[in-house]
Amino acid sequence: MAEHASRLEEKVIDRTAALEADIVRRRRIEEALRQSEERWHFALEGAGDGVWDWDVRTNKVFFSKRWKSMLGYDEGEVQDSLSEWEQRVHPEDKAKVIDTLTDHLEGRAPVYISEHRLRNKQGDYFWILVRGKVMARDAEGKPLRVIGTHTDVTRRKEAEVVALEMQGRFRQLAENIREVFWLTDVAKTQVLYISPAFEKIWGISCDAIRATPDLWLKSIHPEDRPRIEERAYKRQMTSGYDEEYRIVLPDGSIRWIHDRAFPVTDEKGVIYRVAGIAEDITDRRSLEAQFRQAQKMESLGTLSGGIAHDFNNILGAIFGNLHLLKLDLKPGHPALSSAEEIERAANRAKALVRQILAFSRQQPKARQVVPLAPVIDEVVGLLRASIPAGVELEKTCHRNAPNVIADTTQIHQVLLNLCTNAWHAMKGKNGRIEIRLESVTVPRDDKAGRQPRLHPGHYACLSVIDTGEGMEPGTLERIFEPFFTTKPPGLGTGLGLSVVHGIVESHDGVIHVDSELGKGTTFRIYLPAVHVEAPLESSPAAPLISGAGQRILFLDDEAPLVDLSVRMLKRLGYQVDAYTHPNASLAAFCADPTRYDMVITDLHMPGMSGLEFAQGVRKLSSKVPIVLSSGYMSDDIAQKARGIGITQLLHKPSSLQDFSESIGGLFKTKQP
Ligand code: ADP
Ligand code: MG
Repeated sequence: MAEHASRLEEKVIDRTAALEADIVRRRRIEEALRQSEERWHFALEGAGDGVWDWDVRTNKVFFSKRWKSMLGYDEGEVQDSLSEWEQRVHPEDKAKVIDTLTDHLEGRAPVYISEHRLRNKQGDYFWILVRGKVMARDAEGKPLRVIGTHTDVTRRKEAEVVALEMQGRFRQLAENIREVFWLTDVAKTQVLYISPAFEKIWGISCDAIRATPDLWLKSIHPEDRPRIEERAYKRQMTSGYDEEYRIVLPDGSIRWIHDRAFPVTDEKGVIYRVAGIAEDITDRRSLEAQFRQAQKMESLGTLSGGIAHDFNNILGAIFGNLHLLKLDLKPGHPALSSAEEIERAANRAKALVRQILAFSRQQPKARQVVPLAPVIDEVVGLLRASIPAGVELEKTCHRNAPNVIADTTQIHQVLLNLCTNAWHAMKGKNGRIEIRLESVTVPRDDKAGRQPRLHPGHYACLSVIDTGEGMEPGTLERIFEPFFTTKPPGLGTGLGLSVVHGIVESHDGVIHVDSELGKGTTFRIYLPAVHVEAPLESSPAAPLISGAGQRILFLDDEAPLVDLSVRMLKRLGYQVDAYTHPNASLAAFCADPTRYDMVITDLHMPGMSGLEFAQGVRKLSSKVPIVLSSGYMSDDIAQKARGIGITQLLHKPSSLQDFSESIGGLFKTKQP
């Protein structure tokens, strides 16, 4: 018994010891666990993450303190149930969250990771990143416990939204703007971005340039390529790249590009990309070219006009003296044939001066309402005589072609110049020249893509069409420049088309050229129509009208011209008192106004203008006829002259015929 008892006692002691040991061991484990859990908690809370622990069978969830504070709650304010979490998930995110979670619970995904919005205490949603994992499963593999963390990612999400928004805005800008934005790496072997405007300007797809960045360099005009290639590599790294160059499109057409580039640096200031903007400046360039051309023509016009003007005065002296000389020579005199030779040469000089004056638009206008068909007839008649038989000359005049306001001699000149060029363009071969006159009406809402752009209205269209050699674009660009010629010396002066241009402009007309190398050229001239009948032709030059000893006061500052004019007037039977200074002349008239039957004065003189002088004369006599003589008279001056009471305007230099007509005419009407 005692043995039994002592054995029992022994057993109890053993078990107690074992139990004690067990308790100690468990405590140690529990302590270790607690410590580890605490550490884990500290770690998570320190990282700012919340923790949840879900018992799948009971749907009870442990939410950590941080989890709750993240939502704005204190301890004890949140229920420890799954539904607590479920009802906080944003309705739009819910389906996706459940799907992701189910995938993990059912073993299809190794972890549960989800980014979704959760409602906080204030009722606002914020973005969280959840990571979770099944920690225990039952024998059938059903999940028993899932543990996970919660991270607030609102800031990152918001930044992402802003970045997306910015990206969207940049895209909208880049894709709608006319300029091309581009981005490459430093070595220029990669196109990182290129905006869609590139396709429109270059005619090459953005995909193609991304695949083969070299295409850009190849698209540049061969003459510009070496310069751009060099500068692209050197200057794009220093912001000094700002270039204009030509590109050749796949269809062969040429465009002007303005391209700028800037280096892009990283945080350390190291260049790692190049960004640029390219724009199509073709239209701007051609406008500039037109403007420069117009300016050049203008200044050349002024220059040559001035020279021609002086030359015209010299010619006046030559013609005047020549007429007097011929009158002095008896018929059969041996010097007569020399005089006639001089006259022929002077006439050629006069024609040349007229060309230059027409180009510079300084020729006095002789405008009338005229039909163009007779002018064409006249020119065709003239040309038939000089153009070889191998060149066909054809004329098509539409009967409904309208009248225009024009100087017929100038239109004559335009046609003659165009036809001469057409004939030269045949280069001695056979061909055809057609002169055509048509009526053209441009409606108010003109939709026909007409070249050139004409204002709505009615026009007479005069065309000269040839089957000659045609022109290259480079020639076509310059043909209206004075002295531009492709012909050898002696064959061309380069004045023809600039004269045509000047005349057409002064008639408010428009000129257009179409030319194809090897096929021929068409010049079209549009002159504004007038709906008025043309007056009848005036009679030819009348015989000289002689005076009856009337006394004329003659004033001009150019002594040689005064001398010549005096001789001509005397020849016509007048008496002349001539002066070269306005003051002296006015003093003479003042001394005895009744002495003079007529006053002739120049317009431009140093000291006093012809208009002022005429005013002075008018103060002293209201009756005496005053004639104002000038080489060039603007409408403005003509109007002023009439206001002062000037009786007649006379074009200088005046011929014997001019003096005879205007002066004789005045005396005739005054003393019938
Ligand atoms: P020029 O005839 O004295 O050379 P123009 O001003 O008349 O001067 O013409 C200038 C240039 O324009 C010519 O040299 C020629 O190259 C070109 N040109 C003019 N008309 C024609 C045409 N019908 N066909 C081909 N080329 C032309
Ligand atoms: Mg010519």
